[in-house]
Parts: sequence; structure tokens; C-alpha cells
Amino acid sequence: MKVSIVSDKCIACGLCQTYSPFFDYDDNGIVTFSQTDQSVCETSDDDLDTLTAVKACPTKALTIL
Ligand code: SF4
Repeated sequence: MKVSIVSDKCIACGLCQTYSPFFDYDDNGIVTFSQTDQSVCETSDDDLDTLTAVKACPTKALTIL
């Protein structure tokens, strides 16, 4: 599955990385992907930790494409 980040919506709450190491943060605490600076990144369809992180984001900064 492809995951998208809309960084303008991120409030730097730090929740997503507690569910999945797929996510990291910049110096301001805004979400990034661990593996790339791009706004879209692919992970395996059975990566349920990342799916949980996407669903848990309180501001919908993370979406499944
Ligand atoms: S859960 Fe959402 S708002 Fe919180 S750090 Fe992650 S992307 Fe940002």
C-alpha cells in the first residue's frame, strides 16, 4: 500500500511512530517517512502497524492512497 503525508496537517503529536517505525520526525517534530523525504512511500499490504498509525492520526495527516 502507498501512504501519503500531508505535513501541513501534522501537529507533531508524536503518536504515529509509537505504532510504526515507518514514520519519523523532522527537527520540529513534523512527521516524515523513515526511509525517504518524499510525501508518498510504499509499504507492504500486511504492514498492520503502519495501517494502525494512519488510522490513529488525529488530524488525518496520514492517508492510504
Ligand atoms: S499522528 Fe498525525 S499529527 Fe501526530 S505526529 Fe503523526 S502525522 Fe503528525
